[in-house]
Amino acid sequence: MKSLIEHARSFSVHVAERSEEFRDLAAGQAPEALFITCSDSRVIPSLITGARPGELFELRTAGNIVPRYDAARPGGETATIEYALRVLGVRDIVVCGHSHCGAVGAMVRGDDLSAVPAVRGWLDSSTGELPSARGLAHAVRHHAAAQLDTLRGYPAVREGLAEGRLSLHAWYYEVDTGAVSSHRPELDGEFRPL
Ligand code: ZN
Repeated sequence: MKSLIEHARSFSVHVAERSEEFRDLAAGQAPEALFITCSDSRVIPSLITGARPGELFELRTAGNIVPRYDAARPGGETATIEYALRVLGVRDIVVCGHSHCGAVGAMVRGDDLSAVPAVRGWLDSSTGELPSARGLAHAVRHHAAAQLDTLRGYPAVREGLAEGRLSLHAWYYEVDTGAVSSHRPELDGEFRPL
């Protein structure tokens, strides 16, 4: 933690060196995309995409699970997605799964999660069955694409898609190589390099 604190202490010095870029951020945000990915510390959206401050609106959840839309039982995830679409007007949503994902791995293996009941409940909320026969990477890709189906249950997503001002993307990121591939519905749902 010490090095993290040290860096945070001196961060304003770096900001001062690029004062114009950061000063403009006070005027508001207009991010290009909503990036939904796992909470895993090895996945850094701005590192992968090169996004500068203000360019990427992020939602991070265990296993990059998108919960079903339920306005009667709102949660932080639902609110974040709705805000990105209705208020910020993002035009793209990326759901990015990753290699070596502990959450998806636990789902595929059917791990005993009785010691972490909140994790178990969260993973159980994920819709659909995960394929296990073709390994974890295949399961993660399938899972990322399945979250797009859940997103289509959000009124704001449905409207954006119907009006042609929103695109959905499922990506797969390899933490040890940096390779990114994307879901290609027109190729039987295969993932191909970006
Ligand atoms: Zn993960």
